[in-house]
Amino acid sequence: MLRLEGIDAGYGATTILHGVSLEVRQGEVVTIVGANGAGKTTTLRTIAGLLTPSAGSISFEGQDITRLSAHETVELGITLIPEGRQLFPDMTVEENLRMGAYRRGARGQTEQTLEEVLALFPRLKERLGQQASSMSGGEQQMAAIARGMMARPRLLMFDEPSLGLAPIIVAQVFEVIERIVATGATVLIVEQNVFHTLKAADRGYVLENGEIVIADDAAALLRNDHVRQAYLGI
Ligand code: ATP
Repeated sequence: MLRLEGIDAGYGATTILHGVSLEVRQGEVVTIVGANGAGKTTTLRTIAGLLTPSAGSISFEGQDITRLSAHETVELGITLIPEGRQLFPDMTVEENLRMGAYRRGARGQTEQTLEEVLALFPRLKERLGQQASSMSGGEQQMAAIARGMMARPRLLMFDEPSLGLAPIIVAQVFEVIERIVATGATVLIVEQNVFHTLKAADRGYVLENGEIVIADDAAALLRNDHVRQAYLGI
C-alpha cells in the first residue's frame, strides 16, 4: 500500500533520514521504533507531504506521491495524527471532529462517519459541546484520534499517541487503537511505549540516526536482543 525507497529528508541543509526504505501493506499495523531524535516524526512528516524528500521515492497504492503536498496526501486518504494532538482549542469537540471530514472522500458522508466514530469513542459523545481546550490530556488525545478517523483514512499514521498521558489513559488509547485496527484499518505508528506497540503491531522497523537498522515481524523484534536492551530495558 505504502512504499518508501531510499528516502533522504531533513530540514534545510540538515539531512535527518538517510536512505530509509519501508513498506506498509494493506491491513497491516507497522511500527517504527527509535530513540528520541532518530527521525521517526520526520519519517511520518515526509510521508504526509509536510517535508519533501531530497532523494528516493514514496508510492501509495501504486501512485508516486514523493512530491505531493500535505493537502494532496490527505485527499488520497493518508491521515497523520500528530504528536501533541493539535486540536483547535477554541472549538468544541464536535467542531473539531467535523473539521476532520473535509477531504473529498469523506465530506459527503460526514453524518454517518460521525456516528461510526462516536461509537468507537463513547466518552466523546458526552462531550461534543465542550470546548476542546477544557478537556483532559487523555480526552484531547481521543478527540485527536477521532478527528483523524473522520477523514475516513486509507492509511492512519499515529505520532506518539500516548505521550504525556497517565498509564491508565495510555491503556485506553491502546484499546482504542486496537478497536480501530479491528475495523481493518492500515496503521503506521510511532510510539515511545515500545512494548505495548510491538504487542499490537504486525511488523516493525528500528530507526537509528536516520537509518533503518532492523526490519522484522513484531514478535521477532520483541525477542531481539538489541531491541530488548535498547528499547525495552530488559
Ligand atoms: P522524538 O521521539 O524526540 O520526537 P523522533 O525520532 O521523532 O524523536 P524527529 O522529530 O524526527 O525525531 O527529529 C529528528 C531530528 O530532526 C532531531 O535531531 C531534531 O532536532 C531535528 N528536527 C526536527 N524538527 C526540526 C525542524 N523543524 N528544524 C530542524 N531540525 C529539526
